[in-house]
Amino acid sequence: MARDRLCPRCKAAIRGYVDACPSCGFEKPVALPWHVYGLMVLIFVAAMWFLIDLESIARAILSVRDGLRAM
Ligand SMILES: [Zn+2]
Repeated sequence: MARDRLCPRCKAAIRGYVDACPSCGFEKPVALPWHVYGLMVLIFVAAMWFLIDLESIARAILSVRDGLRAM
């Protein structure tokens, strides 16, 4: 489990990743771990890839339809 971090303002122990310190209200007392950013990049890349892939599939279907019409 993740160990407790200390708030940079009031030095209160902070459990997990919270938006604000429960003791003094300091915003983002704990920096998000690098793998959270890595995961966000991965999701973004996957979403982009999925969108590009759908577009290429749609184009392929349209070109086949045009080819059939030309026959
Ligand atoms: Zn605090």
